[in-house]
Amino acid sequence: MFDYLIVGAGFAGSVMAERLATVANKKVLIIDKRDHIGGNTYDYYNHDGILVHKYGPHIFHTNSKEVFDYLGQFTQWRPYEHRVLGSVDGQLVPIPINLDTINKLYGMNLCSDEVEAFLASKAVKLGQIRTSEDVVLSKVGKELYEKFFRSYTRKQWGIDPSELDASVTARIPTRTNRDNRYFTDTYQAMPLHGYTEMFRKMLSHPNIKIMLNADYKEITSMVAYKELIFTGPIDSYFDYCYGKLPYRSIDFKFETYDQEQFQPTGTVNYPNEHPYTRITEFKYLTGQKHSKTSVVYEYPTEHGDPYYPIPRPENAEIYKKYQLLAATQAKVHFTGRLGTYRYYNMDQVVAQSLTLFKKLIAEHSPEIHL
Ligand code: FAD
Ligand code: UDP
Repeated sequence: MFDYLIVGAGFAGSVMAERLATVANKKVLIIDKRDHIGGNTYDYYNHDGILVHKYGPHIFHTNSKEVFDYLGQFTQWRPYEHRVLGSVDGQLVPIPINLDTINKLYGMNLCSDEVEAFLASKAVKLGQIRTSEDVVLSKVGKELYEKFFRSYTRKQWGIDPSELDASVTARIPTRTNRDNRYFTDTYQAMPLHGYTEMFRKMLSHPNIKIMLNADYKEITSMVAYKELIFTGPIDSYFDYCYGKLPYRSIDFKFETYDQEQFQPTGTVNYPNEHPYTRITEFKYLTGQKHSKTSVVYEYPTEHGDPYYPIPRPENAEIYKKYQLLAATQAKVHFTGRLGTYRYYNMDQVVAQSLTLFKKLIAEHSPEIHL
């Protein structure tokens, strides 16, 4: 008899497994329908010996000391600040839009204050910021919106930015200084030996058993357990009784080139000219030295593994119904990007599972002081 069955060996499930096993001395079975641990952050050495991320580029960043220190128990960190260029009007310019983006694009030599005034003169005045279109129009105006955001977003999500919640494009700031980092979080680093290795350490505990190639529906009746933690898609758990929650997927196309470097920075975004959204070169992220280089092209698609919950009001309505149903299941707990239908980064998922763990301890094992 296991204390917990945990479905999904990504961050959401693995953090739960590690905490329950280590701190609460619970017996845990963690399963995944894939043939590996790590969920969407799984990385491996390809045929040429280059470390690549199977489900697209994963760059770790957080403002949470708790999350950073927690994961630091299972990996050493390699400091890494991600930089992205956007291919626009035949040039490669910094994204997020900053001082240099504006000067390069328009052949100007403005200082910070002047760029601020320039953007203010372009910005569209809106009463309410409701959609992803509103966010960008209100900051940089129509022309830059169309150059950088409109087509990219339509490609990525299959719908217009005006149909997406504001939170999606609000992930990308606008800057009037020369800071060209993609993220400004306090902690920005990659696991020195990769994500999979970090997960191996997290899950290596005598109280944790791992079962791969195992779908929840297939094995649930074969194992005995007291409580369930589910990190797969919440609609799948309830057999889609309120209809399918929409997810966006991506086809990842990997290439290895017989040259040391392919592009000038970790990621180049292609808002307008190709069916793919971006190309990422892994050696920037991992710091690996190799005479060849591997990259991944991302082609967004409607079909395939559920990678992105789609933040828009009608989907939130459907999710709310599942959430209410979930609340009636005393011994089943949902966490993670798919389990709670949230467009979360890795650190947010770790924080979410740490919070769920604390809640479970407070309810079931108050004698344990965290
Ligand atoms: P997942 O990693 O999806 O894990 C869920 C697991 O559950 C999967 O392994 C799945 O196989 C398993 N599962 C589902 N259903 C079942 C079932 N019925 N039975 C058994 N197993 C099941 N975040 C960042 O912070 N930085 C980034 O740079 C970044 N880049 C990203 C790039 C892409 C292309 C994508 C798609 C996401 C990116 N993310 C990034 C987000 C990051 O991947 C997630 O926040 C994180 O991996 C979510 O972890 P999770 O455990 O909730 O879900
Ligand atoms: N985005 C865009 N152009 C860009 C970069 C981002 O339109 O050059 C929009 C797009 O809608 C994207 C969202 O901003 O989905 C969030 O971008 P981010 O890079 O955070 O996406 P992720 O890494 O999660 O795929």
